[in-house]
Amino acid sequence: MSPPAKSLGFAVLCGLGISVGVGTVLLILNFALSLETGAFIGGLVAGQLLFIPVRRGGLAGGLAGLLSFPAYLVVIPVIDEAGLLPPQPGIPEPFYESPILLIVILVIEVAIIAGLGFVGGVVSAYLKSRTTPLIGDEDTCPRCQTALPSEAIYCPNCGRKVR
Ligand SMILES: [Zn+2]
Repeated sequence: MSPPAKSLGFAVLCGLGISVGVGTVLLILNFALSLETGAFIGGLVAGQLLFIPVRRGGLAGGLAGLLSFPAYLVVIPVIDEAGLLPPQPGIPEPFYESPILLIVILVIEVAIIAGLGFVGGVVSAYLKSRTTPLIGDEDTCPRCQTALPSEAIYCPNCGRKVR
């Protein structure tokens, strides 16, 4: 059985890597909603790693999605430079003339990506938490707090019966 939960940073980094990796591949393949799909899948991965409690899975997925945006600010010019970026539908002219409109669009896009990462994280963490036996207080000795081997009946440190 896998450990119940990884650290938040680890889960966010894995989710971020998957999000940007999947999003970039889909972008190159000219897949509609590529960044959004990547963020959702990244959220699913983060939630699998950090599912207790479920809201932490959502947090990890949301952060993975949120951080994907600055990552794309680096990745997209690179793949564009490499000639791998398919022609984009293009941003309508009025947006170029109004920086405020452009910023609003970008903020909405960031919110959508973070939100999809969050939803992915919550869904994934919830499913994982339902299918994984919880390790509760049995994990450490209640008397001396020593970490216990998974099948321990007696604490190896103080000898207290632990199950
Ligand atoms: Zn003990």
